[in-house]
Amino acid sequence: MAADIGRNLPAVLDEVKAACARAGRSASEVKVVAVSKNFPPECIMEAYHCGHRVFGENRVQELLEKMDVLPKDIEWHFIGGLQRNKVKSLLGRAALIHSLDSAPLAEEISRQAVLKNLEVSVLIQVNVAKEVSKRGFAPEELGGALRRVRDLPGLRVCGLMTVGPWNEDPEEARPVFRKLRLLSAELRKDVFPDRPANILSMGMSGDFAVAVEEGASLVRIGTGIFGSRYA
Ligand SMILES: *Cc1c(COP(=O)(O)O)cnc(C)c1O
Repeated sequence: MAADIGRNLPAVLDEVKAACARAGRSASEVKVVAVSKNFPPECIMEAYHCGHRVFGENRVQELLEKMDVLPKDIEWHFIGGLQRNKVKSLLGRAALIHSLDSAPLAEEISRQAVLKNLEVSVLIQVNVAKEVSKRGFAPEELGGALRRVRDLPGLRVCGLMTVGPWNEDPEEARPVFRKLRLLSAELRKDVFPDRPANILSMGMSGDFAVAVEEGASLVRIGTGIFGSRYA
């Protein structure tokens, strides 16, 4: 294994801490989701032995297979596009689904959650910059979509998620992250006055420091911890 996970992980955690300090935030407000997609269980165990417990996967089958062979105290997050026919097998396994991107998906999660007597925590994915290649609700659809899903039984909307625009310069992503934070503040007032719903999942290997400065509570970091998925 080429990447030095034991050195990368603490370096990422230090960078998160430094970004928190720059923004006057407490480091305890930010959680790193180690994105382990495409990496085998041995790599996850390396991070686990460094004390890390929160991992993210973007395919249901891969998540379930890894869960089966890895320690039970791992907190799994689902961060990828979710097909409605996979909802049933995912529910009860992932602590948080970051990628709710349509009303029909919300309805299916709710239906299955009720059948299984679960409350499922989700984030709403927002395509802030309306990139054609990206999933998620457009900012102007968000209010309507949330009003449609907020009262579905078994579904608990905990906040918003976005994927920043890809660019060499992480500063290019700053306005996108800032906009997600402002949208979140607006919606908390208008749609969820009685619930926290304040999680912001934003920032990846290339731009997480900027995302933390702009208020991220979850950063999703793959390459920065595990190395390149394409090596
Ligand atoms: C793969 C992935 C990540 C991690 O990307 P890196 O650039 O490797 O840190 C984060 N979020 C989502 C939604 C992903 O699919």
